[in-house]
Amino acid sequence: MLHVEQPGYFLYPNIAFYIKYAKIVPMVNRMRHNRAQRGDTRSHHALKAVDLSVCPDCNTKRLNHKVCSNCGKYNGRVVIDVGAKIAKKEKKLKAKKEESK
Ligand SMILES: [Zn+2]
Repeated sequence: MLHVEQPGYFLYPNIAFYIKYAKIVPMVNRMRHNRAQRGDTRSHHALKAVDLSVCPDCNTKRLNHKVCSNCGKYNGRVVIDVGAKIAKKEKKLKAKKEESK
């Protein structure tokens, strides 16, 4: 019988014993997923098509609860002056072109 001052710390000073009886487990990557697990996760990653509604004033498609970008109306009321906006944009472009000359 071996006498050890601290029982449990180094009870068996024989390395061969440790190799035989100790729970020595090789390092395993437990985070790894197989192909099915990966596929299950990605089955929810598909993009959905945006659900568009039709503008009752100009019959073009627009986002729900948003001002129509074609006629600038929302709920039958003009919110954005589309013509003025386009004119402003064109004016800005023209000025930029002249500046570069
Ligand atoms: Zn519209």
